[in-house]
Amino acid sequence: MPHRERHRSERVGWLRAAVLGADDGIVSTASLVLGVAAAGSPRHEILLAGISGLVAGSLSMAAGEYVSVSSQADTERADLATEKMELTKQRPAEEKELAAIYVQRGLDPELARTVALQLMAHDALAAHARDELGITEQMTARPLQAAGASAMTFAVGAALPLLVVILAPLSSLAFTVSAASLLCLAGLGALAARTGGASPWLGSRRVAFWGALAMAATAGIGKLFGTAAS
Ligand SMILES: [Zn+2]
Repeated sequence: MPHRERHRSERVGWLRAAVLGADDGIVSTASLVLGVAAAGSPRHEILLAGISGLVAGSLSMAAGEYVSVSSQADTERADLATEKMELTKQRPAEEKELAAIYVQRGLDPELARTVALQLMAHDALAAHARDELGITEQMTARPLQAAGASAMTFAVGAALPLLVVILAPLSSLAFTVSAASLLCLAGLGALAARTGGASPWLGSRRVAFWGALAMAATAGIGKLFGTAAS
């Protein structure tokens, strides 16, 4: 097998997060808008529901991301503190531990010990963080940054169906909102799949399918309860 010139996984990480946030924004806001529109509401009510959805969704994404990334950061910090203490208190045991990890990964015992000693002479904590705990510097969790990013990508996605609500004629709102949303979902799915080296067609179909399902479900509910209430 020929060696690929560039590895994709690093680039895919943040792009996938951004696309997922935008997908979420599009699907949930478009669904909300379609549900309210299907109940026969006037444009300003549809818009109000959509804007509330954008704000609520962005904030809840940010809060969820903040909490999850913070707790990950807490765990990393605690792990590193323990590791640091162990390195000062029982260095020989830590040398053996690291060497054993390299043996497990395929080095012979003698070489593993040499590698462990040299890496620990260079930066003992970094070597243990990376090879024992799996914590690297690029991965170190940043809660506020993660929260801001997911709120923003959600809001960008949510803005799309809202824009359609403002611009499209009221009579064809259901059609234009779902068509525009599905088109964008398919585009985002293709983009994410392409960047990840997968088939764009498959990626766009997958995302569009779930989006269509969500929109159909809320439109159905809007129709049901809208007519039941009036
Ligand atoms: Zn260790």
